[in-house]
Amino acid sequence: MKKFKRILVANRGEIAIRIFRACHELNIRTVAIYSEEDKNSLFRTKADESYLIGKGKSPVDVYLNINEIIKVALKKGVDAIHPGYGFLSENPEFAKKCVEAGIAFIGPTSEMMEKMGDKIKSKIVASKVNVPTIPGVEKPIESDEDAIEFANYCGYPIILKAAAGGGGRGMRIVREESELLDSFRSAKSEAKKAFGIDDMFIEKFLENPKHIEVQVIGDKYGNLVHLYERDCSIQRRHQKVIEFTPAISLSVEKRNEICADALKIANAVNYKSAGTVEFLVDSGGRHYFIEMNPRIQVEHTVTEMVTGIDIVQTQIMIEEGHKLDSHEIGIYSQNDIRVNGYSIQCRITTEDPSNNFAPDTGKMDVYRTGSGFGIRLDGGNGFTGSIISPYYDSLLVKSTSWARTFHDAIRKQIRAVKEVKVSGVKTNTAFLINVLNHPIFQKGLCDTNFISSNKELFD
Ligand code: ADP
Repeated sequence: MKKFKRILVANRGEIAIRIFRACHELNIRTVAIYSEEDKNSLFRTKADESYLIGKGKSPVDVYLNINEIIKVALKKGVDAIHPGYGFLSENPEFAKKCVEAGIAFIGPTSEMMEKMGDKIKSKIVASKVNVPTIPGVEKPIESDEDAIEFANYCGYPIILKAAAGGGGRGMRIVREESELLDSFRSAKSEAKKAFGIDDMFIEKFLENPKHIEVQVIGDKYGNLVHLYERDCSIQRRHQKVIEFTPAISLSVEKRNEICADALKIANAVNYKSAGTVEFLVDSGGRHYFIEMNPRIQVEHTVTEMVTGIDIVQTQIMIEEGHKLDSHEIGIYSQNDIRVNGYSIQCRITTEDPSNNFAPDTGKMDVYRTGSGFGIRLDGGNGFTGSIISPYYDSLLVKSTSWARTFHDAIRKQIRAVKEVKVSGVKTNTAFLINVLNHPIFQKGLCDTNFISSNKELFD
């Protein structure tokens, strides 16, 4: 057992602040790293110490520089590194190099990451434990001929996916053979640019699925639990916009079946730390595993609100060597995990819905957020006078509501999003309110095409 004294967060923005808060409550000193472009960003002031790194590197590359990050960590006597989400969070080499340098990596092992972070390999793991996967070809496409043959085997429409994919990149829906090869080439080059790996595969495209995912968490001793599901169907271009829990459209039986399947997959690799097992549920109510994310996710907040479990602190304590059923973590058994009420998260971004959601930048002259009973805020770089730069993602603040009923959680969220006052930079708040007010959303019935097929949301 090792009590961590200093943790470095290899990330920026809201997730860095979220992790610093978890550390401070545990009496752990926090170390931030930041790029030249982030020198005025809020997150670095929320850490106990912060260090400028990556001179001469591009703004994103600064946070991808494994050797320099580990060097700073060693120099500053850090015990552990938390990678957050994005950047190096799914990079097995980073996890491995941290451990080789004698620094704990807060997350799964590099071997688990290698297996579960790859969409082709993880589908094979799922099939082995009899969890349904979307019909497709579970091997990389090697040539144009392969692409044609595999697509014919699945039957159109199909979806091309990058094995290393994330954030909806490296993905193309193909409805007929004439579009296949162009889409294959463009998706492959997008994957190469985004992930450095361009292995592609093909699966059947489901027309109107729901995206349901399950939070799992395991310790170093093979104990694993799930923290129930999240409905993340409200997406724009395959990226999540609003997430909630419980998924009110699922029957109790279906929900239990999906959560049990998530645990089967996590158990198959003896998964350690927090992870998310993602499924699509088709219009006939059948569920299929799509991928596992071996890291903390943006939408972990809603699960925390209904279970009362601090997932980031649990990750830290697991890495220190505590068992799930220790007094420190206090998850004595699966039956101990109770879901209380409903929670909805809105991603408030500095994007302009009237201009195809283009990221907006500039000086924020006014920044006021909603608050009050039932509202949790996880902020990034918003404050009056802050500069929203074009270099990083446009997440401004996550507004998470909690209430005893789904409708009350919606009402609280609408009220809180309406309270947000920002000037100088455009935000998506009016769009979010339109979604929250929509009758299909209020019934919990949105599928992944909800945004693209409801033009009135943009008014
Ligand atoms: P990423 O890792 O890029 O987020 P995912 O595999 O998690 O990619 O898929 C993201 C989203 O893309 C899903 O939530 C869903 O909306 C859509 N999607 C993925 N696979 C399929 C499929 N076979 N059929 C229909 N939609 C899909």
